[in-house]
Amino acid sequence: MEFKVSELEREPIEFDLELAPGAVDFGQEAEQTGALATSGRVEVLHEHRGPKDIVADIRLRGRFAGKFQVPCARCVEPVQIPLEAEFDLIFRPAGADTEAPERSITAPETEIGYYQKDSLLLEDVLREQVLLSLPVRTLCKPDCKGLCPRCGQNRNSQACHCEEGPGDLRWEALAGLRGRIKP
Ligand SMILES: [Zn+2]
Ligand SMILES: [Zn+2]
Repeated sequence: MEFKVSELEREPIEFDLELAPGAVDFGQEAEQTGALATSGRVEVLHEHRGPKDIVADIRLRGRFAGKFQVPCARCVEPVQIPLEAEFDLIFRPAGADTEAPERSITAPETEIGYYQKDSLLLEDVLREQVLLSLPVRTLCKPDCKGLCPRCGQNRNSQACHCEEGPGDLRWEALAGLRGRIKP
C-alpha cells in the first residue's frame, strides 16, 4: 500500500488491512507464518521552517500483529513467536535535512525516517517495524542443547557420540549467524 503526499494533502488516510505471507520480505531474520494485521492513520504535517520553506512530513501512526517464526539462536530450528507493536513515525522528504539537520520541531516521542519520490510504502515501514520488534535472542526452549560443535547434530533430538572437548566451532558460528544476520 502506497501513501502519496499529493493524496494525503487532500485528506488523511485510515488503513486497516491484512497482509498475506510474502507481501513483505523479511529476509532471513523472520518468516511470516500467518496474516499480518495492520491498521492506522497517515497524514501530512507541514513543518514551517521559514516563510517560503515548508516541508511536508508524513506522519504514520498504527499497529501491527502477526505470527512469525525465527531460527533458534542455538539449534536454528524454527521457533513460532507472535509479534505485535505500535508505532508513531515521522517521515521527511529525502534531502530535507541535508542543510540543517538540527532544525527539528518534531515531537520528541516520534522517530524520524525519510521517504523517497513523494510517497511512502506501508510494506517498507512494516518490514522495519517487525524486524525492530524481534527479540534479541530467541531459543526454542530455555534449555536448548544446541548443535554439536563437532558433527552438527541437533542435540535436542539425539545425542551424538562425539568426544567432549574443544571441537569444531563452525557449527556454533553457523547457529549464531543464522540467528542474527542483519540485512
Ligand atoms: Zn533450539
Ligand atoms: Zn557430535
